[in-house]
Amino acid sequence: MEVKVQKCQNCASRNLRNVLVRDETQKVFVQCRDCSNLVARYVLAKGGYFHAGKGFESFLRSMERDGDMISGRDINSNFDELEHNINDEFAEITAMMNNIFGKKLP
Ligand SMILES: [Zn+2]
Repeated sequence: MEVKVQKCQNCASRNLRNVLVRDETQKVFVQCRDCSNLVARYVLAKGGYFHAGKGFESFLRSMERDGDMISGRDINSNFDELEHNINDEFAEITAMMNNIFGKKLP
């Protein structure tokens, strides 16, 4: 696994904002808060957006927007598994970043 902390290619700032855009897909535009340049754009996979701490109802709305028609039971077990996996992965990434950057996390 590789871990990076994103920064602006133009001014090297790490002061960034995520702009969420929803049309036929869900996209994230990462904009530099210091020079306003575009840093990156992500297109989210179906069911790819996870909003930490927002719970199952928020996850369900996100699935509905993506147009996925799967059973409530599948969605429920998907959410529990997804939330668990994302929390585990985030803990792993946080530990890796602490190892790499220590207290000087960019
Ligand atoms: Zn910048």
